[in-house]
Amino acid sequence: MSDSALIINLAYVLATTLFIVGLKLLSHPSSAKKGNLVSAIGMFIAVVVTLIDHQIISYHWILVGFVIGGAYGAWKAKTVEMTQMPEMVSLFNGYGGAASLLLGWATISGMNTITMATTDTLIFVTVFLTILIGGITFSGSVIAWGKLSGKMSSKAFIFTGLRELSILHLIAFFVVGYLFATDPSNPVWLYVSIALALSFGIWATISIGGADMPVVIALLNSYSGVAACAAGLAVENTILIVTGLLVGASGLILTNIMCKAMNRSLMNVLLSGFAKPVEMGEAIEGEVKIMSAQDAFYVLEAAQSVLVVPGYGMAVAQAQHAVREMQSLLEENNCTVEYAIHPVAGRMPGHMNVLLAEADVPYDLLCEMDDVNPRMENYDVVIVIGANDVVNPAAKEMKGSPIYGMPVIEVYRAKTVFVLKRSANAGFAGVDNPLFFKDNTRMVLGDAKDTINSIIREFGDD
Ligand code: NDP
Repeated sequence: MSDSALIINLAYVLATTLFIVGLKLLSHPSSAKKGNLVSAIGMFIAVVVTLIDHQIISYHWILVGFVIGGAYGAWKAKTVEMTQMPEMVSLFNGYGGAASLLLGWATISGMNTITMATTDTLIFVTVFLTILIGGITFSGSVIAWGKLSGKMSSKAFIFTGLRELSILHLIAFFVVGYLFATDPSNPVWLYVSIALALSFGIWATISIGGADMPVVIALLNSYSGVAACAAGLAVENTILIVTGLLVGASGLILTNIMCKAMNRSLMNVLLSGFAKPVEMGEAIEGEVKIMSAQDAFYVLEAAQSVLVVPGYGMAVAQAQHAVREMQSLLEENNCTVEYAIHPVAGRMPGHMNVLLAEADVPYDLLCEMDDVNPRMENYDVVIVIGANDVVNPAAKEMKGSPIYGMPVIEVYRAKTVFVLKRSANAGFAGVDNPLFFKDNTRMVLGDAKDTINSIIREFGDD
């Protein structure tokens, strides 16, 4: 190995090490920022070394792409709201898929007939896989982005013939893949492959309901890594293979964690759109009992143990600092306060943990769902702040419900439950919530931050 090749490979090893250290640091909110920085340095080294490794004839277009992409990324990162992070992650997964698709396309387009004749068929198979997985990741991520951002309904979109269409797609992958790899000079197979990949990504994601979106996003993240890995094999770039594998493997681990949190198997989630529709069971009826913030204060003043269950609405209202203040006031009043965090509360893994850490809520007060459920009867008051699906008893009580079987925080077993939200509307999964009609539930309607601030004022006036 020449000296320059040795230096290049050592730089790749350094970049890979930085990615692994970065991933490790990302696993805790206190070190996550550092993890991002370490990974970004790794990526910078990887890009520079890759450019040096190849005999670049002109840096013209590379610089144009670098400036536009860099400026767009920096602008997005600066302006994104915390609650928009999941949809942004989804979109960035999609960009990764699109980049792989374009790389596969460019690889095949850059070959002349002589190169094609001397290239191993295995390379064409990897190019096909790059285009296929990249395309599915791109269009699937765009649909997930639409569902998360509310630009599309989060409900599962199921139509007659979906199952047959998907089976036809799967057969077509094998047939077109074979034709692509054995007749690469025919551009028809390239365009058909792209069309198949894009359309499959749409059907596969559109048919999955809102409650299963955490699994879908984690899986698409993993796909974007696998697509990059296939692209790395196609263009014989070591760092692309390694980073693709890292993203693919970590995405798969996250998918597994999400599946466990939802008590679903991956197959069950992916094929949910193809299953027969289920009966929704009996309709939810009852009377919602509304309470004012002032009356809620009187109950809280007498409480000795309070459990706070935050959800997506707390993020929307940016109520975390007010929640922290209310916690201090309750504690001064000799009341113990704990927080119950559902693994899929909010719109991304760890969403609630990040918000509460930002408001300096001590980490040891955050309890997992399995910790609090067995002792739920002991809490005097549970305050549900902008959470809905993660506290929905339909998951336990209504067999036909789309969320039936999903583990939830069983707040309805506490002595009193306050639900702080703006209406009795359904959550992200679009499923009505019988919790609102339970005898021990009181709804304190309004923006969560305003409601908590009103309760805080009552403590002050006391
Ligand atoms: P939900 O989306 O089920 O419910 C949030 C509730 O917050 C809404 O019903 C809304 O009710 C209320 N809300 C919105 N704005 C405000 C506000 N300003 N003040 C008070 N309340 C407000 O949230 P959950 O956290 O319970 O559940 C998360 C859902 O998201 C699950 O279905 C999960 O599967 C899904 N998901 C999770 C991901 C993850 O990784 N964590 C990723 C993608 C999806 P109203 O309009 O009446 O105020």
